[in-house]
Amino acid sequence: MQDAYGRQIDYLRVSVTDRCDLRCTYCMTDDASFVPRADVLTLEEVLRLGAVFIGLGVKKLRITGGEPLVRRNILWLFERLGRHLGHGLDELTLTTNGTRLDEVAEGLVASGVQRVNVSLDTLSPATFKSITRHGDLSKVLAGIDAADRAGLKIKLNCVLMKGINDGEIPDLMAWCHARGFDLVLIETMPMGDARSELYLPLEAILEALAKRFSLEEVADRTNGPARYLHVQETGGRLGLIAPLSHNFCADCNRVRLTASGRLHLCLGREDGIDLRAHLRAGDSDSAIIAAILKALSVKPQGHDFVAGGTCSQGQGAVRSMSATGG
Ligand code: SAM
Ligand code: SF4
Repeated sequence: MQDAYGRQIDYLRVSVTDRCDLRCTYCMTDDASFVPRADVLTLEEVLRLGAVFIGLGVKKLRITGGEPLVRRNILWLFERLGRHLGHGLDELTLTTNGTRLDEVAEGLVASGVQRVNVSLDTLSPATFKSITRHGDLSKVLAGIDAADRAGLKIKLNCVLMKGINDGEIPDLMAWCHARGFDLVLIETMPMGDARSELYLPLEAILEALAKRFSLEEVADRTNGPARYLHVQETGGRLGLIAPLSHNFCADCNRVRLTASGRLHLCLGREDGIDLRAHLRAGDSDSAIIAAILKALSVKPQGHDFVAGGTCSQGQGAVRSMSATGG
């Protein structure tokens, strides 16, 4: 799959639910409303589309949400998708908030998953509770421990929030690196209800880190939007996802499938097609493939997020990350 700008698309992110057991302030409102259950793709429908995309050249598949692990029978999907590993698919992975990771870690490994991204913005139980509105940090830490024990490689995603967790990034990094985990810092993006006052450019944190650590840019990319630094003192890696201060669109290789079966061509734009309609109309795989390829030809050149912008002023995406599949 290639788009009109010559970018090779080989990475699909699939949201299996827009629901979540947490309410991170940068992602959802407390009273967030969700897609009616009947409109959410069944796991069989997700599996069918996954196979179609793998046939079209998708090599990396990330299951996300909402919180993917609140979806009932999710291991069924991992197990089935895992059968494509080595047969077109190179990597099957997931992004999770970690609260239920301890229940599924072994099953994920059995399905062929080798790496997980766990989102964790703080190591303080009180700050965690206030960011997530009611979350229990100890559950996430138990999930991370279980994933580690099961042999999964772990990457921690941390959304940088001005005045909330920016002071503890060095400690979080040291904690991750002592356990052999990568830490990836993400700029708050103006999506859904994210509040613009939380935005802090990554450069500000890098300056603070550079006073304590020797940071060296490294070439390794993981087929995603992050660029990496090697931290000499810890021997670990620090990833940076800075869509606002360092636009990553030029080498975008991704498309996203929402829980209700919409294929979005860009995180920050509305362009997309309704694949659920094709599935439920009984269309053949070749009709679905034709629709996907047509959509791909209009994949936008890039997002138009404005640093520190607000969605209501048209400087971000109306959809939240949980609706799109982060
Ligand atoms: N629930 C899972 C989790 O939190 O990892 C998966 C879905 S979540 C939407 C995926 C990622 O998007 C998380 O790392 C989360 O921190 C990030 N995210 C959500 N809203 C964001 C925003 N407005 N700006 C930047 N990252 C955001
Ligand atoms: Fe849930 Fe993930 Fe959004 Fe937090 S970031 S509310 S854990 S979907």
